[in-house]
Amino acid sequence: MNLHEYQAKQLLGERGVNVPTGAVCSTAAEVRLFADKVFANGAQLTVVKSQIHAGGRGKGTFKNGFQGGVKVCKSAEETESKASSMLGQVLVTKQTGPDGRMVSKLLVEAARNIKKEYYAAVLLDRATSRPVLMVSTEGGVDIEEVAESHPEKILKESIDPALGLMPYQSRKIAAALGLRGEMMTQATKLFAGLYKTWWECDAAMIEINPLAIMEELDGREVLVAVDAKMSLDDNALFRHSKIHAMRDLAEEADLEIEASKFNLNYIKLDGSIACLVNGAGLAMATMDIIQHFGGNPANFLDVGGGASREQVTAAFKIILSDPNVRGILVNIFGGIMQCDIIAKGIVDAVRETGLTLPLVVRLEGNNVELGRQILRESGLTIISGDSMADAAQKVVNAVGN
Ligand code: GDP
Ligand code: MG
Repeated sequence: MNLHEYQAKQLLGERGVNVPTGAVCSTAAEVRLFADKVFANGAQLTVVKSQIHAGGRGKGTFKNGFQGGVKVCKSAEETESKASSMLGQVLVTKQTGPDGRMVSKLLVEAARNIKKEYYAAVLLDRATSRPVLMVSTEGGVDIEEVAESHPEKILKESIDPALGLMPYQSRKIAAALGLRGEMMTQATKLFAGLYKTWWECDAAMIEINPLAIMEELDGREVLVAVDAKMSLDDNALFRHSKIHAMRDLAEEADLEIEASKFNLNYIKLDGSIACLVNGAGLAMATMDIIQHFGGNPANFLDVGGGASREQVTAAFKIILSDPNVRGILVNIFGGIMQCDIIAKGIVDAVRETGLTLPLVVRLEGNNVELGRQILRESGLTIISGDSMADAAQKVVNAVGN
């Protein structure tokens, strides 16, 4: 699960990370109210930031032609007018794909001039099986690009999960970034808060880009988390009801939400052959074998080990709402579940959806004979596959690519 910037900043702020003062707004009037307050308090700038689950907003373009999903403004009027151009509009960035994302919330913050931008992130290093604090002096830009062209500019500090991030490690990293004196003190505190947030929230990744040195009105320098991106480990969400409640369904694909209601693991892909499979390993093998015979899978769909009739029907409906689907392959191994239950689910689903697309079914395992009999006697046009290879070939042929 991904969080919005304003949600990530809230969690970080609660744990000692210096984040800007801001407000989440969904109307231009709310933006104006907050901007008036900010300027009345002496601020000279505000920043208006589109809240979508994708990066690259600053350089993005709205479908209405408006340039930039992040705008620095000099007055309350300008803040309100920029906000009006963004709200309810679709923002396209490098990370959204051509469809873009609808902006329905803005984060408005008191802004300052940025003196220097850095990059900081905490994530899990799969090679060492440890958390890692990753930083770079090349902040504000595409970190993937830095990793490719200047890998030496990315510094990593491996963290022992039993000890946590030690103060000496934060100081070492801060020094490597060239931070001294008061800036080092602030950096040490910020890295500690960043790691604490990652750890306590069971995050998968937290990225601060840019982490910026900004100048206060009195000339004092402060280190601020200007942007924040955070994703959580879904398997640990049950421990965090408060964070779980931050889930924004509008940011997730409709079909995937529908699938999660029925406990189905569904991921939409670009091909034309839909797969309905039990078990993630079998689902992946099924997608491979479809490709092997020259087809392209339209989805990954794991109905789980003990799927019910209702789940199978729901799965069919989800599969069929993808207009690219031209054929379906059901590949079930009845290890925990019974093939006859699945067969009944398939028959129900075909009748209920009035399926006309080619459907190939391969059943194996518990009660397989009964399952096959149910399919045969249903009077429906169901192509039976004897083995995985046979079934995959049959569906590829039926779809014709
Ligand atoms: P992203 O493009 O989605 O990564 O969004 P960011 O939050 O990183 O914002 C993009 C850019 O806008 C940043 O790299 C900054 O250059 C600029 N920006 C964001 N907030 C502020 C601010 O408070 N003050 C100033 N001066 N610039 C800002
Ligand atoms: Mg950024």
